[in-house]
Amino acid sequence: MSEFTATDRTKARRHPERGTYDRDTIYSILDEAFVCHLGFIVDGAPFVVPTNYVRVGDKLFLHGSTASRLMRTLGSGAPFCLSVTLLDGIVLSPTATGHSVNYRSVVVMAKAEQLIDPQEKLAAMRDFVEYVIRGRWAEVRPPTEQELKATMVLSVPLVEASAKVRTGFAIDKGDEYAGAGWTGVIPFKWEAQTPVPDPRGNAELAIPANLLNYTRPQ
Ligand SMILES: Cc1cc2nc3c(=O)[nH]c(=O)nc-3n(C[C@H](O)[C@H](O)[C@H](O)COP(=O)(O)OP(=O)(O)OC[C@H]3O[C@@H](n4cnc5c(N)ncnc54)[C@H](O)[C@@H]3O)c2cc1C
Repeated sequence: MSEFTATDRTKARRHPERGTYDRDTIYSILDEAFVCHLGFIVDGAPFVVPTNYVRVGDKLFLHGSTASRLMRTLGSGAPFCLSVTLLDGIVLSPTATGHSVNYRSVVVMAKAEQLIDPQEKLAAMRDFVEYVIRGRWAEVRPPTEQELKATMVLSVPLVEASAKVRTGFAIDKGDEYAGAGWTGVIPFKWEAQTPVPDPRGNAELAIPANLLNYTRPQ
């Protein structure tokens, strides 16, 4: 299906014109980022914790220490909310309240399942590495049995998801602009800087071109 079904929980009520359930839009936002925030409840208290994810088809993988509260809570099947934000610009308006930001964001409501099979876990770990840096898995030592045992991998089916996208200038009325300060948009771009070699690494190796020109899928 090319669209997620909007549910009572994912139906955008505030600025619904910015909401979308288009699968390609949602996946493109997820794929440009690889950091999410996970909201969950433990003993009645809400927590929002940042972490990495990888999207593989219609699911996400999360991973972490088997000792982490986050992983233990989500691994027990507790419901959670995952959100991803890409900041695209600061919007300057003639009015204090009219200022805004341009963004693309995704919210996913989900429950996770633990991967138990060591081969499935290993494949997901490979997906993690390759999602962040394509071609990297072949250049590093794979996880040991012990490292895999200490790592919990969660599979998150993408079933209930929404995106919201804001573009353009402030939405103030034209008559607000007379006598106001500068108005417009400061575009934002998330981009990699020049890689810094680890002094313990092989000094004879040049920085590979794919790392020098690191980009995310746009
Ligand atoms: C970087 C950034 C800055 C923002 N700054 C502000 C701000 O200062 N003030 C403000 O009021 N709002 C801001 N927003 C918008 C904010 O995310 C909410 O959309 C808005 O506050 C409405 O919240 P609500 O709970 O009333 O949404 P509702 O319309 O009740 O949300 C219903 C459902 O719509 C979906 N939804 C809502 N918001 C989003 C979203 N952003 N991305 C994907 N799905 C979504 C979710 O599934 C949610 O459960 C910002 C968003 C981003 C990404």
